Amino acid sequence: MGLKTDVIASEKNICLSCGFCCDGTIYSYVSLQETDNPMELRNIGLPIKTTERDPGKSQEKESGFDQPCAAHQNRACTIYQWRPAICKEYKCALLKAYETQEVNTEAALKLIGDCTRLRDKLRSTLETHLSVDAGLPLLRLFQLMAKKLTATKPHQQEPDMVQIQLDMASLRILIARRFDPMGDQLAKHHRGAANSP
Ligand code: SF4
Ligand code: SF4
Repeated sequence: MGLKTDVIASEKNICLSCGFCCDGTIYSYVSLQETDNPMELRNIGLPIKTTERDPGKSQEKESGFDQPCAAHQNRACTIYQWRPAICKEYKCALLKAYETQEVNTEAALKLIGDCTRLRDKLRSTLETHLSVDAGLPLLRLFQLMAKKLTATKPHQQEPDMVQIQLDMASLRILIARRFDPMGDQLAKHHRGAANSP
């Protein structure tokens, strides 16, 4: 995952052209691990929140933060040396394939570019349709749009609704197949090794 500001920026550092695992494109939440210190992370600017893992049923707490990550700027992690454990461990499917040379730089950057264009077009369309502020994670926009579609009878749907649904499906498939290391994380929405729901 995210962006290696201590790695020399070059065309070979595909993460510096991407940022999907930090900017709310793939995930909407990052879970902290036992080795993380929530207080320290809060002090360096991550808005860590602690909640009951299973509300009403267990005293167990979990800590984490929402995406887009507050530390992600210009496609780089501004707290790279101090980033949470899962951030240190994480590699998406594309990065793994790139490191084993199954995918070359040109193909990786093309995929990231194609995905970025589709995401940006869709994000803009969804924000307009839903009349929401910019910056919500993509998953949240998808959830709101799905709710709106469910509440709208087919004959009442605006003409571009079909295209929006096609674009949402295309992006979801693209991310699940080419980026997500474990399956459809847009459905799971947590980035966390052991505690993805
Ligand atoms: S989604 Fe993959 S390629 Fe993109 S920044 Fe994260 S690890 Fe790097
Ligand atoms: S702390 Fe934020 S910006 Fe840094 S790697 Fe983790 S999710 Fe990405």
